[in-house]
Amino acid sequence: MNKGSVFIISGPSGSGKDTLLVELFKKFPEISFSISSITRQMRENEKEGEKYHFISKAEFEKMIENNELLEYNRYVGNYYGTPEKPVVSAVESGRDVMIEVDVNGAAQIRKKLPDAVSIFIMPPSFSELERRLSGRGTESREAIDKRMNAALDEIKRAEEYDYIVVNRDIPAAVDDIISIIKTCRLQLGRQKHIIDEVLKKC
Ligand code: 5GP
Repeated sequence: MNKGSVFIISGPSGSGKDTLLVELFKKFPEISFSISSITRQMRENEKEGEKYHFISKAEFEKMIENNELLEYNRYVGNYYGTPEKPVVSAVESGRDVMIEVDVNGAAQIRKKLPDAVSIFIMPPSFSELERRLSGRGTESREAIDKRMNAALDEIKRAEEYDYIVVNRDIPAAVDDIISIIKTCRLQLGRQKHIIDEVLKKC
């Protein structure tokens, strides 16, 4: 059986990656989503176990100690990390996995999994990013400023990614992500078994 592929998706807070992922999973429900463990407070619209496992700092530090994380990072004062086991078991069972991480997490994953395909979601402009972040109404002015600073640092590192998708328009950006996934699935490494199958019948 072919192994699944690992897709890394990053983009500044407010780039719209969550909305893009919701739309993507409607069309590709077979892709496994990596649920991160994080120590920030749960927002009102969030549910435990949907996108994140909300855990304490002590629990997170135990995971670090036990080497349970594929990567982790501190972002605006909180820990965010990707548990390794679910990613490995999905890939081994032939399922593609989507991991949403920040740029530091993406760099750590690339070192461990050099075949991972990375996608950076770019906002159409910095001012549009600020408008989206302020419009969410979920964070204080101070938290928004911290996220804007983090966004600037992330955009400066977009060159580290295999693909850039500009999120001007949701359906078009989702189509771009789908094209990347389809291209990856068509690569030789994923299709070698087909050569054998055709040759067997010659
Ligand atoms: P938020 O607090 O807005 O949900 O996420 C803040 C940032 O953390 C986003 O850039 C998001 O991509 C990133 N993030 C989410 N999960 C992880 C993770 O498991 N590891 C790392 N390194 N970053 C993550």
